[in-house]
This record gives sequence, structure tokens and C-alpha cells, in this order.
Amino acid sequence: MNFRSTRGQSPDVGFSAALLQGLAPDGGLYVPGSWPDLSAVTPGALPVVGASLIGAFAAGDALGPQIPAITRDAFDFPAPVRVLPAAEPLRVLELFHGPTAAFKDFGARFLAASMARIPRTDKRPLRILVATSGDTGGAVAAAFHRRPGIEVVVLFPKGLVSPAQQQQLTCWGENITSLAVRGSFDDCQRLVKEAFLDPLLRTRVELSSANSINLGRLLPQAAYYAASSLAIRAETGQKASYIIPSGNLGNSVACVWARQVGFPIDRIVLAHNANRAVPDFLATGSFTPRPSIPTLANAMDVGHPSNMERLLSLLPDSAAVLGAGLSATSIDDASIRDRIRADHARFGVTWCPHTATAAETWARMSVAERSAHQWTLVATAHPAKFRETVEPLVGKVEIPENLRRLYELPSSFREIDPTLAALRSATGD
Ligand SMILES: *Cc1c(COP(=O)(O)O)cnc(C)c1O
Repeated sequence: MNFRSTRGQSPDVGFSAALLQGLAPDGGLYVPGSWPDLSAVTPGALPVVGASLIGAFAAGDALGPQIPAITRDAFDFPAPVRVLPAAEPLRVLELFHGPTAAFKDFGARFLAASMARIPRTDKRPLRILVATSGDTGGAVAAAFHRRPGIEVVVLFPKGLVSPAQQQQLTCWGENITSLAVRGSFDDCQRLVKEAFLDPLLRTRVELSSANSINLGRLLPQAAYYAASSLAIRAETGQKASYIIPSGNLGNSVACVWARQVGFPIDRIVLAHNANRAVPDFLATGSFTPRPSIPTLANAMDVGHPSNMERLLSLLPDSAAVLGAGLSATSIDDASIRDRIRADHARFGVTWCPHTATAAETWARMSVAERSAHQWTLVATAHPAKFRETVEPLVGKVEIPENLRRLYELPSSFREIDPTLAALRSATGD
């Protein structure tokens, strides 16, 4: 299968090339050139269902035959679906059992396992550039740490990530370089895009991205929607509907893609924080990117969601998006806090601030709407990553073993101005 750029100005490429390039040469994002029909896939374990899905997209590529081994390597932790004791059916898809306790581990580990297996003839080192609003960088650093022949440079907005996130971004060393950028996440993302277009840098290293713009992040995320929707249909006889905490829309576009190839998915709700470019687009029909606003759900502080291009390449305007059963909400910080407190009291669960936007979205639905679908909240991170927000609301949060280990490592990073020149000099180019 081939992949085409959303901007239509560069040649179609195969699966491996799309993974290595990250961004298409014309500045667009790769999307599938066609959609396989996977409606006959049967329920099974995540690595198996994931290999059916991703394998269909990698058909004909050098990596194609290796996909089952890659999904077994990458998805070596569970993604359980739990049932909550609510009056209407309510489930939680827990995506925080990986090494850095957020859903970004799925994509990062898949990408690392894939890149390590792509045969390369290029003599330049392979450098992965990652802009992170909090969780991506840690997941990518963990997944690529000590992979021979691959360097990783992580850019995060100085002072805008939580202390625990910062520790995960800066505790690696060796082949991982961590840079605190004096600016916002949007500045970090712009720097990565500028570096990709910089001919000088490209003569020295082969650049690749590991952001949610990389196809190798998107497809593995579709895998947990595929596997969990099959399991939910087997149990209930109905399609699954998801409420997804959203920022750059990588997680939600993955869900849309899983539905597009025939997995039993009905409604998809995009739960945003106070950064409301997407909810406003669906309400008004016009998409207006804007500067990001800092919120408690900081991994969703995105004013200009990059995966909007992918969504619009499939569903070209707001009417098409709404017609396809998608909707969006915007949840402010006060409501995030209230929801964490309320659901801790009601269900005995503790949400991270991101997951709380999904829980609040469900709580605001009418009883009729809650009863009409098999709603599944997507829990994107473990609450222990956001103790400073969560503990004043619900008391002590247990730190899982994987996070505890990372917290004990020494931290090191450099601070840079938000310019390409500063980035070049920090990486010695
Ligand atoms: C990245 C992230 C999100 C937002 O996901 P997108 O794919 O950018 O929409 C939500 N929650 C957490 C915990 C995250 O790390």
C-alpha cells in the first residue's frame, strides 16, 4: 500500500519510507492511499489484532512480513477495558500501563521497533526530532534509549510541563538529548518543521520525526481501538463509542481510521480542554488555529492541531465531520478538578487531568444519550504523572513501579531560544 501527502505536492511512498520521513517533503502528512476492508478480523489479543490492521497497511513493504514481530515487541503491556459501576453502560480503556504511563508508549514503542528493523544504506546518523507538550518526548526517549545508530533530540516548552513529565524527558542521556525551549509547544513544533526544511541540517543527518504526525505513531494507536471495539462488540453485541481526550488529534484520527477500515466503532467524541479550536470549528464551520492556552491537561494544550490536516483529508468540512458521528467538547480547568473529585467519590477511580475531560464530557450527556451507546472513556495517562494537580483533590496517589524507577535517575537538559540557529548550535550542527 502507498501513502500520499495531505498537500498532494510530493510523490506517494511506501510504509517504511513514510515512517522514516515523518513529514512529507511538501510539508504535508502521510495518509493511506486506499482503505483495506478489515471488517472480518476476529477478536483477539492486541498484538494479534494490531498485526492484522497494521499488516494490511504495510502490505508490499519490506517491513510487512515483520509486523507481527514488531507488534509483539512493542505492545508488551496490557490495554485493559474496565467496566465502571454507572447506571448506564460505561467503560474505560486504560492506555497507561506502558513504560512512561501514557498512551504515547504504544506509538513510540511501535516506531522504535520498526525503525530498528528498516534496512538503511544511508551513512548519515538517523536523528529523531520530537517536539513534546509533555508526554510524547518521554515515551519516545524511553522507546529509543540505547537503540544503536539512532539519536533522539527532544524539545519541550520550558516551564510548561509537569515536574514528573520533565523528569521523564531529561533522565536518559546517552543517545537522547533534551532541550528546554524558551517558548510554547507550538514553538517547539515550528522548530521541528523548520529543521526538516533546512537543507544544511539535512546534509549532515537523516532527520525523522516521532511526533503524532508520524504515520508510525498513528497506526499503532488504531490497533487498540480495533482490539477493544472487537472485544466490546463480542460482549455487548453493539459497536463501541469512544470519548477521547484530544490535543493534536493523533489519538482521535487513529480511532477514525480504525472505524474507516471496518472495526465496530460508532460515535467518536473529541474531548478538548480550554484550547477550543476543534470544538469551535464544528460549531461554526471555520477552522481558526490560535496560540495555545496553558491548562491542567497540558499534553492537550494545542492551538493548532497538526492532525487536523489528516481529519480534513478524509472528512473535508465540519458538516462531513459531524455527519460521520464525530463531535467535540471543551472542558475548562475548574470542571476538570470537579470531575476528578466527583468520580473519585462516586466510582473510586482517579483520573489524570486529561482523562477527566472525557469523564466530564460523558457526565454532561443526557441519560438518553448515555444509554444509546456503549460509551468508553479513553484513559490517556496514569494520575501519578500529575500528582500536583490530583493529590490536593483526592489524596495520595500510588506511584506505579515503572514510574518510580524513572524518578530515581539523574536529570540533565539544556535551555535554548526558540530559533533554528539555537537548535543547530545545541546539537553541534
Ligand atoms: C498527548 C496526550 C493527549 C492528546 O493526544 P493527541 O493525540 O495529541 O490528541 C491526551 N492525553 C495525554 C495524557 C497525552 O499525553
